[in-house]
Amino acid sequence: MRKICPHCKGKNIARLVWGLPTCKFLEEMDKEENKGKYQLRGCCVSSNDPDYCCNDCGEEF
Ligand SMILES: [Zn+2]
Repeated sequence: MRKICPHCKGKNIARLVWGLPTCKFLEEMDKEENKGKYQLRGCCVSSNDPDYCCNDCGEEF
């Protein structure tokens, strides 16, 4: 299922990854086909963190 940015309606959406990523995940992220799909965030997780980030306009949702 493709996410759509609520701000610019773009489909170039990155998944935000909260917390400490595993080595396996980092390998996955480094792959060419996964470039731009993920963004790493800090370890501070709150209850209403956004799950996705738009690569076009930077909107988080
Ligand atoms: Zn956008």
